[in-house]
Amino acid sequence: MPVLEVKNLQKSFDSLEVLKDIGFSLEKGETIAIIGSSGSGKTTLLRCLNFLERPDRGQILINNGIIFDAADPRTQRESEIRKKRLHFGLVFQSFNLFPQYTVLQNVKLASELLAKERPDYKKNKKRILEEIDRKARFDLSQMGLDSKLDYYPHQLSGGQQQRVAIARALSLSPDVLCFDEPTSALDPELTGEVLRVIRALAEKRTTMIIVTHEMAFARDVADRVIFMDGGVIVEQGSPHEVLENPKEERTKQFLSRFSEQ
Ligand code: ADP
Ligand code: MG
Repeated sequence: MPVLEVKNLQKSFDSLEVLKDIGFSLEKGETIAIIGSSGSGKTTLLRCLNFLERPDRGQILINNGIIFDAADPRTQRESEIRKKRLHFGLVFQSFNLFPQYTVLQNVKLASELLAKERPDYKKNKKRILEEIDRKARFDLSQMGLDSKLDYYPHQLSGGQQQRVAIARALSLSPDVLCFDEPTSALDPELTGEVLRVIRALAEKRTTMIIVTHEMAFARDVADRVIFMDGGVIVEQGSPHEVLENPKEERTKQFLSRFSEQ
């Protein structure tokens, strides 16, 4: 059973059709890499999945349950969207950490806010906060940041900040972890450090969608590669199929342009 299914997703901004008819599914433990030129709709797709944009048509299912259906307003109630967002963790190109909080506080913040809404919060406050603390420390240690818990973002390198952002996205245990060009804002040496932790997550079978221009990384780490162009999925398949033996002319052109750069 797929964790995520996206069906016939369409999204326009005024007269500009940015996503035309996007459909794919993601199995538990699978890593998908999405590649494609700038402007092909990759960010918009991730933003739709995270309810930062509202698709005009189509459906999004998690574990076979419809969480969004453009034709059904009952699936779009504001009051439930915040909860539905928790299915996804999103790591952006820019790290977006809170500068006034330490590393540990940045990772715990969302979980602590959510915990306050639990009916048993008052009664079990101490235990709940201890659990959140333990989980945040665990996620930060997975990111190799045990020694930086009390640092502030400005005291960290870009690579370290991005690893905090990944720990923060993991802290709410999302069904799907999404990355939007997670290394585009980093120097090459820091890029390697962030790609290594994402690779380790893939090896632990974390379910992930990674928008990336790092072709070697996509080839080595992804179970499946999706090539998007002009708001459609032109081709999808194993890294070997899409990156080394593409069937579609548009994929071949993209890859040859890419290797020239
Ligand atoms: P990618 O991430 O593949 O580079 P995007 O999803 O960011 O592509 O953008 C796809 C197209 O949608 C671009 O032409 C972009 O200018 C347009 N677009 C994205 N967001 C908006 C918006 N909020 N309003 C209008 N146009 C947008
Ligand atoms: Mg983008």
